[in-house]
Amino acid sequence: MYAKLKCLQCLIILNGLFYVQGERTIGAIIDDGSFLFEAAFNVAITAASENEESPFAASVVRTPPGDIMEAETAMCTLLESNIFGVYGPKTKSTLHHVQSIADFLEIPQLIAEPVETLNRNWTAVNLYPNHIAYSQIFADIIKIKAWDEFTIIYEGSEHLPFIDNIISLQELDSEVKMVILVVQLPDGDDYRSQLKTVKASGSLNYVISCGIDKLPLILQQIQQVGLMSDDHSYIIMDPDFQTIDIEPYKHGGSNITGIRFFDPELEDIQNFITSLNAKVKELSEGQIENAVAENGLTLNLALVYDSVILYTAAINAMGLEEGAENITCDSDDSWTFGSTLINHVRTMEIDGLTGLIKFDEEGLRSELEVDVLEVMAHGFEKIGSWTTEDGFTESRKIVPPVEQEGSDSMKGKHFIVITALSAPYGMLKESSKQLEGNDRYEGFGIEIIEELAKMNEFNYTFDIQVDGVYGSYDSKTGKWTGMMEKIMDGRVDFAITDLTITAARQKAVDFTSPFMNLGITILYKKPTKQPPDLFSFISPFSYQVWGYLAGAYVGVSALLFLLGRFAPEEWQNPYPCIEEPETLDNQWTFANSFWFTLGSVLTQGSEIAPIAVSTRMAGSMWWFFTLIMVSSYTANLAAFLTVESKFYAIKSVSDLANNPYEISYGAKKGGATYSFFKESDNILYQKMYQYMDAHPEMMPPTNDIGLERVKSETENYAFLMESSSIEYLVERNCDVAQVGGLLDSKGYGIAMKKNSPYRQPMSESILQLQEQGKISRMKDKWWKEKRGGGVCADDDEGSGDAQPLVLANVGGVFIVLAAGSGMAVICAFVEMMFDVWLTARRVKVSFKEELIAELKFIFSFSGDVKPVRHRESTGSGSKESKKEEEKEEDDVESHRESQNRDELAPSRHSERSSHSHHNSHSRRQSNAIQMARMRKYSRQYSNKSQLIPEN
Ligand code: GLU
Repeated sequence: MYAKLKCLQCLIILNGLFYVQGERTIGAIIDDGSFLFEAAFNVAITAASENEESPFAASVVRTPPGDIMEAETAMCTLLESNIFGVYGPKTKSTLHHVQSIADFLEIPQLIAEPVETLNRNWTAVNLYPNHIAYSQIFADIIKIKAWDEFTIIYEGSEHLPFIDNIISLQELDSEVKMVILVVQLPDGDDYRSQLKTVKASGSLNYVISCGIDKLPLILQQIQQVGLMSDDHSYIIMDPDFQTIDIEPYKHGGSNITGIRFFDPELEDIQNFITSLNAKVKELSEGQIENAVAENGLTLNLALVYDSVILYTAAINAMGLEEGAENITCDSDDSWTFGSTLINHVRTMEIDGLTGLIKFDEEGLRSELEVDVLEVMAHGFEKIGSWTTEDGFTESRKIVPPVEQEGSDSMKGKHFIVITALSAPYGMLKESSKQLEGNDRYEGFGIEIIEELAKMNEFNYTFDIQVDGVYGSYDSKTGKWTGMMEKIMDGRVDFAITDLTITAARQKAVDFTSPFMNLGITILYKKPTKQPPDLFSFISPFSYQVWGYLAGAYVGVSALLFLLGRFAPEEWQNPYPCIEEPETLDNQWTFANSFWFTLGSVLTQGSEIAPIAVSTRMAGSMWWFFTLIMVSSYTANLAAFLTVESKFYAIKSVSDLANNPYEISYGAKKGGATYSFFKESDNILYQKMYQYMDAHPEMMPPTNDIGLERVKSETENYAFLMESSSIEYLVERNCDVAQVGGLLDSKGYGIAMKKNSPYRQPMSESILQLQEQGKISRMKDKWWKEKRGGGVCADDDEGSGDAQPLVLANVGGVFIVLAAGSGMAVICAFVEMMFDVWLTARRVKVSFKEELIAELKFIFSFSGDVKPVRHRESTGSGSKESKKEEEKEEDDVESHRESQNRDELAPSRHSERSSHSHHNSHSRRQSNAIQMARMRKYSRQYSNKSQLIPEN
């Protein structure tokens, strides 16, 4: 480009040398490396020549930027063209050099640069606004905005004179102390670290003074470090502010104010831009089209035009037709009209593209007229104008924009989101590359914000709470701490981490709907192996079941004893050979009853066998019961012996509170868990709070430190923390586990300033994410998959503890036993009643009498021997023999009374085996029946023979 430029330069130098007689030549030294200023100069010369009899001509020399020798040569060359004045160059050092030549030769020099003109060299005509007047514009805007603190960020020392009046604001108003911080940006393109330092100061208002080429980059980095939220305000000092792309800042919420010297939509400006573009295209031989965009005209270009117009107007006004003839770089003379022309220019007043052009008595452009602009969602908006004479005049009330609720209210805005390095909510990315900005972080909370930003179209910058303090109210200072304080101060917009929604916090800030639910529980070492227990055979049944079992044993034994007494069939003839025994025996003595039940429980049996239906029913129910109970016991005992038993030092929070093993415990310092114990009115939790309060050394500042203490071999420590975080830790640390259930139920939410308009859209988006299942997928990803998740997944497999059987497991069999026993009782009762009825009939007494006698005997519990009832022998004669006969008939039906008559064995019935006893009993029964029949027939026969007369 520069080689090409050099070549073009030769041509133009030649052009300049052949000036046309009758044309008034104005020279220009162009050193900006583009065609823009040359084009602007040419367009201005053309415009100045319109309708002029003796037109003006441009003689342009291009030089490399900052090359003093070339600039001097260019000046000398131009002087050969009898010039009326010279424009340029732009570069400060060459400008000053050319200025000294021009000054010596009294050739007026046109300048349109913000150079210090403190030497007030009288041959220079600088149309750039004077720095004092310029800085006054911004001082007035700051006053209107009533800032009591602000930071001036400037780029280089050349900007310092332009902030002169702004700094003086501090002295002007001695009543209100204005805090002004002045910060210079470092060399290079990365201002972020400097901006972060500025951010740490907490300043909310900023004045930016920098070149237009750097302004977009600076604003971008300001946004990146999170200095462009709703609470921040900016004043941009560069006059070309309107030429930059403000799209990224339109919706950010920050108030951004700037100025302009002309409205780009004005016809004159648009015409100038058109001519300029055409000229650039011509100069670049068609290579550059539309060099200046519709709103891209800078102040310098407009000033080049204005300076030429002003100067040529002065030449015309003076009627000058001859330039600096015979004036060369070597001549000792100066141009005769030079000083007169300069004086004339300084008295002139014209309306240029950049407003009113007028000089003060010092030759400086101090009378200014500018528009004051503000960045709005729709673009730039003029909010007023400022003139040196009248100061700021508002054309629109500065009203804070009304925030609409709904997702649109967040669109395009930029927010600072604070988080903490607390896994898995916010973590530093593991990467071999050096990462910048938001890219440095990942995690569950980070991903939620990414999703919310996509849904609500906002931008964000993450900030880290380095000390990990989420925030609690400090009653001593009356202030909130940590993240909460930053939200309340407006230093950050949102906070996301494992930040619990608590009643106290809800009073100070707003929370979105919870994105996760959890409760407080205990993190402790995994249970250790239980030492072998000598009495582990007790374990298969719970103590309650053992108790019931013992009760059932006693109950059924007692029942059998009773049933034995009730059931008539259980009363047996002890001496089967005695036909009519005086007494009957019963096998169901108290001891035998207990022996029978015990024998079946221990699956060993006994020699006692029930005979009556009722005792058999009760016995079989008991056998069924023992069958189930013994099988259950055996099965569970096998489980107890094969499964490794664990020793649980604590199983619940009450174990921890009562602390039999002297386990120390604590919760995260200043966290919601600690607050829970503090605020609770539960006696147990209060006791725990008092312990924690008395042992501040037990309160780790982060969950990670808490985990290390739990794992420590040297410490016996339990950490009270939130279940969701425990879930994450136990996936990766196989030597720790959650102990007990949840003490409460609460949630994590995103915190923001009280009455924030963003709560509604953020909550809606969180609910949407939940409904779409995205949050639970994210949870699975960050809990179970990423960063070593799932390591301990198989760890607990097969380690299910054997549990003692409780009543719920075996209750049914007790019910069956009880029902069976009930039926047996009914049965025994029926049997007894029937037997009483028979006996009553047989012995010719009333049923009631017999029943009372029987019951008396049963409940007298007077042993296992029962006397046999016989009929009373009170009658005489034939009446008596009839009764005898009837009795004999009864004997046939009553097997019991005849059963033993054919046997004379004197031994006790109970001494025999039940089986053989039963067989012999049946045999005896039939013998007895036969004998009774025989006796009956023989008696009938003898009675009949008595009826026959003896002779
Ligand atoms: N989530 C808690 C909070 O918001 C921190 C952890 C805890 O206290 O267990 O303060």
